[in-house]
Order: sequence, then C-alpha cells, then structure tokens
Amino acid sequence: MIIAITCIVALAVIGFLLSVRAKDLPVPEPESPFQHLDERKAAIYENLRDLQFEYRVGKLSDEDYQHTKKDLQRELASVLAEVDKIKSQLSTNGTTPRPAAKVEASAPKPEQAKATGYVCPSCGATFERALKFCGECGKAMKVGAS
Ligand SMILES: [Zn+2]
Repeated sequence: MIIAITCIVALAVIGFLLSVRAKDLPVPEPESPFQHLDERKAAIYENLRDLQFEYRVGKLSDEDYQHTKKDLQRELASVLAEVDKIKSQLSTNGTTPRPAAKVEASAPKPEQAKATGYVCPSCGATFERALKFCGECGKAMKVGAS
C-alpha cells in the first residue's frame, strides 16, 4: 500500500517536472558552441557507466560489452575532436572561448568602502562619493571644508 502511494507520488512529481520543463524552458539557447557537445559528452559518459554496470551485473556478454564500449569510445573521440576543432577555430579568430561558468561580479566589500568612502557621522553609513546629505539617514554630512 505504501509502495503504491509512493509510486503515485513519484509519478506525479515526475509528470509535474516534465510539464514545467516543457512550458518554462521551451528552447534553451546554447550559450556556447560547446554546450551541445558537452551534453553529448555527458550522455556518452553516462552510457559508458550504464554499460559497465550492466556488464558487471552480468546482463551483457563480454562480446557485447566490448563492442558497445568501442562504439561509445569512438563517439566520444569524435565529440572531443569536434570540441578541439571549434576551440582552434575560435582561437584563430582571435576570440577566446569563455568558460561556461560565469563569475558573478562580487559586490564591493564593506571594508573597502570604509577605507575609501565617506562615513556618515550620524549613522555610520559609508558612501563612495562625498554627499551633502546621508543617503541612509538623511542627515547632513560634513564633507570637506564648508
Ligand atoms: Zn547617516
């Protein structure tokens, strides 16, 4: 009984995820020319893992295993060659490929602002520029000689 309920819940969750995916992410634009190759590479690695697992549990004969493994490795080699080709093309064009992971611009640290900025005498807020009035508490800030 519990298993049946668990199955129904799991199916509902999967169905929900699939419907959300279909609606919200219709056509994910490839961010880089490598992305679809990366995806293929990942898929091949996964297939290799599955293959190894099936071989280990005895689902595959030695011959089948070697044969499929060779096919997958050949496919992997072609994907890697394609990646290399695109990379060399990009480098000859003078544009270096950006890494897929974007580095978020980190906000300036409070210590930095304190070292270079102007401090409100009333509330202690710091600002990069000299201000007549504090942007935090609105009180007058004495800036320089006035
Ligand atoms: Zn203030």
